[in-house]
Amino acid sequence: MNNFEYKQAGNTKNAIELINNTPDAAFVAGGTNLIDLWKYDLTHPSGLIDINHLNENAEITTLKDKKVRLGAAARNADTAYHPIIEGRYPLLSKAILAGASAQIRNMASNGGNLLQRTRCYYFYDADVPCNKREPGSGCPAKEGYNRIHAILGTSEECIAVFPSDMCIALAALEAVVNVSGPNGDRSIPFEDFHRLPGDRPDIDNTLGKGEIITSIDLPEEGFSEHYSYLKLRDRHSYAFALVSVATAFKLNGNVIESARIALGGVSHKPWRSIEAEAFLKDKEATAENFAAAADLILRGAKGFGSNDFKIQLAKKAIIRNGLMALNPESQLPGALPSA
Ligand code: SF4
Repeated sequence: MNNFEYKQAGNTKNAIELINNTPDAAFVAGGTNLIDLWKYDLTHPSGLIDINHLNENAEITTLKDKKVRLGAAARNADTAYHPIIEGRYPLLSKAILAGASAQIRNMASNGGNLLQRTRCYYFYDADVPCNKREPGSGCPAKEGYNRIHAILGTSEECIAVFPSDMCIALAALEAVVNVSGPNGDRSIPFEDFHRLPGDRPDIDNTLGKGEIITSIDLPEEGFSEHYSYLKLRDRHSYAFALVSVATAFKLNGNVIESARIALGGVSHKPWRSIEAEAFLKDKEATAENFAAAADLILRGAKGFGSNDFKIQLAKKAIIRNGLMALNPESQLPGALPSA
């Protein structure tokens, strides 16, 4: 029997007070990952602070500077189908709709999407060691079955991947995460929000103790004309990415004025390559140049046996998604360009 206290927060200030006054408590919004972790006996919060009623964090709004603010408590489905997101940030809409199932997207919050934990099979098996659950205990995935595991940014301690689709688009769009905590408010560039495992794979992100995500800001530029999100997985629905790619371009004719590329399913965090984006600037948008960019992105990639295939798969996905981004209409089923 897991006894726990349940408290409902009325606003952000109240939520911060409650989490800081209830040792080992957890925030709950959609609960789509937290309840799994609890059922698998991997987490035992002493209390649940319900943040489903923070109305100030539930909206999607355009700010004065034309940026768009996604409330952390807004649901993934409401975000994906919101007219501002569909119109100005279709890359984000498409990435969200590639994730999970319709039922889960209806429940899952935007803030919770950023905080979901890896789906490494060993992490979810409390009977085997795992450095992410218990630092220093070992990583059976490195020598075990690692088909879904990372090829970039791994460490001796952990080769897990971050499972989100939404966050891959947010990384490509250069979103900013706004948080509040006992020491006030701060904003974290998306690139700095999630961590590589290093020697502390138990720490997924840079959110401080007692802090809560309040919103996520999108820059004015949404790359609504040339974008694509490609997710490759073992089945077409309700499966995590083996490799996913978010690609966006600003084009002048067929010349790339600016490029964004971020990968999912390959690392402990969304893997954005500034180097590859710089390489593509002022180049022709061709399969050859996308292949060269892919080689830059994957230069340090390393497989661990069962996941060796991901290196080649990622290269092909980057090329194909670059071609698809040139003409988003091509993303309709049956109209995929070959790469
Ligand atoms: Fe644990 Fe990471 Fe190893 Fe998976 S890859 S078993 S999460 S340490």
